Amino acid sequence: MDQVQLPKNVTRIQEDEEFSFSCHPGVDCFTDCCRQLELALTPYDVLRLKQETGLHSNTFLERYVIQEQEADEAFPRFYLTMVDDGRASCVFVSDQGCTVYQGRPGACRAYPIGRAAIRQDDNSMQQFFVLVKETHCHGFLEKEAQTPIKYSQDQGLIRYNELNDRVASLLQHEKIRGGMQLTDRQKQFFVLALYNLDSFREQLEANELPNQEQYLSHKESYTDDEQLLLFAVEWLQRVLFQQ
Ligand code: SF4
Ligand code: SF4
Repeated sequence: MDQVQLPKNVTRIQEDEEFSFSCHPGVDCFTDCCRQLELALTPYDVLRLKQETGLHSNTFLERYVIQEQEADEAFPRFYLTMVDDGRASCVFVSDQGCTVYQGRPGACRAYPIGRAAIRQDDNSMQQFFVLVKETHCHGFLEKEAQTPIKYSQDQGLIRYNELNDRVASLLQHEKIRGGMQLTDRQKQFFVLALYNLDSFREQLEANELPNQEQYLSHKESYTDDEQLLLFAVEWLQRVLFQQ
């Protein structure tokens, strides 16, 4: 991380290092950052957003998510749809603010803090923080003292980080880092289990998937979406890397 060249407006910051920042409806740039952005979604983001909108995960994906596959990457990426209103606004922004505030994505909670989590040889995750200062953001003029850890806690980010780190065990798996390419079937499993959680549960209930014995013997544990997402990560470890 120390060797990584950061853009000029991005600086490394320690987890307990103070900076001044506050974002609230009184700032004159309110909701500016909800436009002209590329908002990548993690599986936990989609879980929280589909709960917040009350939609089946499949409907949520069809209505609000764009899936992209880069030729040189093993896994597809997922982005929140933007509206074609000349400002490329987020589909969930209104003049009053975010309409899915309680379920807003981790990136929206984290800004202006960025976090990188790197898997270590002993399987622990080491985290690094950066501060992103964009000129249009006037939250830095507010005199409220923050630190990356305090801000993450206040924004409800800790659970997002925990679940995202579990997913990172797949994304940063040693076989993936070694150049492993997934079959189309494996990519379908990845999308189903991590991003389309309600359909994943339905297919497990119908006993349609391989390696699902653990689900059938503990199915009462997996009525909770977060527990099912944790099961999905373990299940993908088996169907992607142990076959
Ligand atoms: S989800 Fe909410 S906070 Fe995030 S960009 Fe959209 S409107 Fe803004
Ligand atoms: S630009 Fe900065 S201060 Fe303004 S709404 Fe976005 S995060 Fe808040």
